Amino acid sequence: MRSFSKSKLVALRQCQKRFWLEVHQPQLRKESKLTLASFEQGYQVGNIAQRIYDPAACGHVIDVQAEGFERAFERSAELLRSPATKSVFEAGFSAGGALAFADVMLPIRKKGRRVWRMVEVKSSSSVKDYHLDDIAIQAYIAQSSGIELDSVSLAHIDSSWVYPGNGDYHGLLKEVDLTEHAFSRKAEVQEWIAQAQSTFKKKKAPQVAMGSHCTTPFECGFSEYCSQDLPKPEFPIRWLPRISAETIQELAAEKIDDMRYVSEDLLNDVQQRVKHHTLTDTVFFDAQGAKEDLAEYTFPAYFLDFETIQFAVPIWKGTRPYQQMTFQFSLHILNRNGELKHMEFLDISGKNPSNGFAQALIAACKKQGPVFVYNAGFETTRIKELALRHPALSEQLFAINTRVVDLLPIARTRYYHPTQQGSWSIKKVLPAVVPELSYKELDGVQDGGMAMSAFFEAIKQHTSTTRKTQIEQQLLAYCKLDTYAMVRLWQVFSGRTDLKL
Ligand code: SF4
Repeated sequence: MRSFSKSKLVALRQCQKRFWLEVHQPQLRKESKLTLASFEQGYQVGNIAQRIYDPAACGHVIDVQAEGFERAFERSAELLRSPATKSVFEAGFSAGGALAFADVMLPIRKKGRRVWRMVEVKSSSSVKDYHLDDIAIQAYIAQSSGIELDSVSLAHIDSSWVYPGNGDYHGLLKEVDLTEHAFSRKAEVQEWIAQAQSTFKKKKAPQVAMGSHCTTPFECGFSEYCSQDLPKPEFPIRWLPRISAETIQELAAEKIDDMRYVSEDLLNDVQQRVKHHTLTDTVFFDAQGAKEDLAEYTFPAYFLDFETIQFAVPIWKGTRPYQQMTFQFSLHILNRNGELKHMEFLDISGKNPSNGFAQALIAACKKQGPVFVYNAGFETTRIKELALRHPALSEQLFAINTRVVDLLPIARTRYYHPTQQGSWSIKKVLPAVVPELSYKELDGVQDGGMAMSAFFEAIKQHTSTTRKTQIEQQLLAYCKLDTYAMVRLWQVFSGRTDLKL
């Protein structure tokens, strides 16, 4: 009988077709950047968990990649039998047609017997529904292989915890006892394993229609493969901005997936506008309205954008897991006579850039003039966080927030081009309004996610100086384009085509 890993069984819980493809045609899977980033995050949290649960570093780590499955199972069994073992990480079990590796196994004595406490470590900030299946499978396989489990817990990130520095990560993880739940689902897990065995034997992939299960609870790596032969609507209803899930469901029930067939009664004004200009391939531009929206703002005008990073495992003292940390800004300053200056901040030293960022921002923004941003909530929240983190600078930082003007609502109300496909992200609006500018021309970093990954690579100690310099240039070019894009949007919206920008 073939044995299936816990991750395959979890895939089966999501979709039978996914399971079949994972086993028979894994080469068709294409993981998204988001999925790959979450793997990397899980890896980091796993490493820190070993330090937390084994501060004296006297535990054992099973490395299935290096040891191979057979040896990994043998060595795990030996270690779990040995009275000298203090802790085992990634211990492997195999039984009843399934196999699994436990993140943490800790021995305890109970009624004179040596039993085990199993801890599954997750990089999420709470227990999710799908973790419950994961835990149940894990416990079942361990128990079936003869391990006497006393308890099963899930340790997730405590996002309220503040890193005290010096590599002290005690408190990063919060344990939730799920023993009762894990132990009560034995029959279900057996059923899943039986289902996996029968699905595996099928000659062809089971027929499963695409739906919400393709992205929940995980983004499925076979989405591109599964959707390749589906008829594609010419004007998908997902291009209708902020269309509710309820309306999409109602339309799906009537087999409507193209906005041509969506009744106007179901749409608000903006959605009707998008539908009309998409179907007629025409541009909507309320030039007078946009000009009036911007008329009250004087010079100098500032155009500001931030880049941030979030760490599941904080690296800077005084910061929390998943806290948005600003590491870069770009600022264009436009004077009355059309003179355009550029200022920027980027710290790839690996030290906490927060204070330097706040000081540079205050100095660059001066004291007067509108500060244009695109989607103001993001920048104003980051400025507020900086102000709270640096009380000595808070007055000046809060003063910047009072000057912030958001270009996004103006774009949303006054402009729409069919190539935007229902989105007003600056990446969609810029090439529509200013076709000669494009993010695609940028080398290396072309969006916020790429900026985050590039920064993370740049601050690592082992990254070469040459690579650091290359990343620095790519980040600077990317963020600079973001604020220059805003300048050009402002120019078109305010009707100042007389300025040579
Ligand atoms: S894309 Fe959807 S239907 Fe296709 S295998 Fe994945 S979950 Fe199943």
